[in-house]
Amino acid sequence: MKNYFIKTAVLFLCAAVFVSCSKEEPKPQDGKLNIAVSSYVPYTFAKSVLGDMATLTLLIPPGVEAHAFEPSPKTIKDVKQAQIFFYTSNHLEPWALKIDKRGVMLAANLPQVLPNDPHVWMNFDNAKIMAKNLADYVVKKYPNLNDEIKPRYSTFAMEMESLKFLYSKIMSTCKNDTIYHVGHLAFGYIARDYGLKFKALFSADMEQEPSAKEIANLVKEIKENDVKYIFSEEQLNPALAKTIAKETGVKILMLNTVEGITKQEFTEGKTYQDLMLENLKNLAIGLECKGE
Ligand SMILES: [Zn+2]
Repeated sequence: MKNYFIKTAVLFLCAAVFVSCSKEEPKPQDGKLNIAVSSYVPYTFAKSVLGDMATLTLLIPPGVEAHAFEPSPKTIKDVKQAQIFFYTSNHLEPWALKIDKRGVMLAANLPQVLPNDPHVWMNFDNAKIMAKNLADYVVKKYPNLNDEIKPRYSTFAMEMESLKFLYSKIMSTCKNDTIYHVGHLAFGYIARDYGLKFKALFSADMEQEPSAKEIANLVKEIKENDVKYIFSEEQLNPALAKTIAKETGVKILMLNTVEGITKQEFTEGKTYQDLMLENLKNLAIGLECKGE
C-alpha cells in the first residue's frame, strides 16, 4: 500500500512538473523567435522591426483576399506553435482571438482613427505606433533583444517620417484631387491626410459589391470630369476595371492595400515602405501631380 502511495505521489509530481513546464513561456530557439502574424500588415512590420531575429508564419497566405479569410485547422495549428501571435485589429480579424487568446493586437493606442475605415496602417503615424506596439511587446517578453530591436525600430520610424514628407510634398502638387477607385474603401486615410476625395466602388469590408447603378454613375462621372486614370487593386478580379476603362477610355493604375499581397510581391519581399512608395508613384501619375 505504501508503495502505491509513493508511486501515485510521484505520478502526480511528474504531472505537476509537466503542466508547469508546458505552461512556461517558450524561449527563442536557435536565437530565433517563432512568430505567427495574421496578414501582411503585421508581417511587414515584424520584418522591419525584428529582421532575422524571427521566423514569421503568415496566416493569410499570399494571393488570398484578406477580408474574406477564414481560419483553417492549419491556421490554428500554426498559431498554437508560435511563441507570439500578432494581428492587426478585432475589426479586421474577428477570428484572431477566437483561435488564440494570446493574440496581440497591433492597432492599439492609435493617434488617428477614422470610424468607417479599418485600414488604419494607411496613416503613417498609425503605422509607427503599430510597429512600436510590436517592438515593445517583444522587448518586454525578451528584454535581451532590446539592443537589436531599438535601432531597427528607430529606422522604421524615420522611414515613416520620410514617407509622410514625400506624400505631403507630392500630393500638394496634383492637378486632380479625386481618386476614382474600382476597388474597396481602403484609402480613406490617404484621402483624408492629403486633402483628396476618394470614390470607391466596393465597401470597406469588401462584402458589398457595387450595383449596376453605382457602376453607371461612376462611368458618367469619369466621362463628365474628363478623368484620364482610374485605380484598381491586384487582389480584385480585373474584369470590372477593364470594362470601365474600355467604356471611358481611361487607363488603369494599381494601388496596394498592403493587407493582401500577391504571390509575386511576397516572393520579392516587398515591404510596407516599398508598397506605399509604389502607391505614391501611381497616385502621382493618376492625379497628375508635379512630383511624379
Ligand atoms: Zn481592405
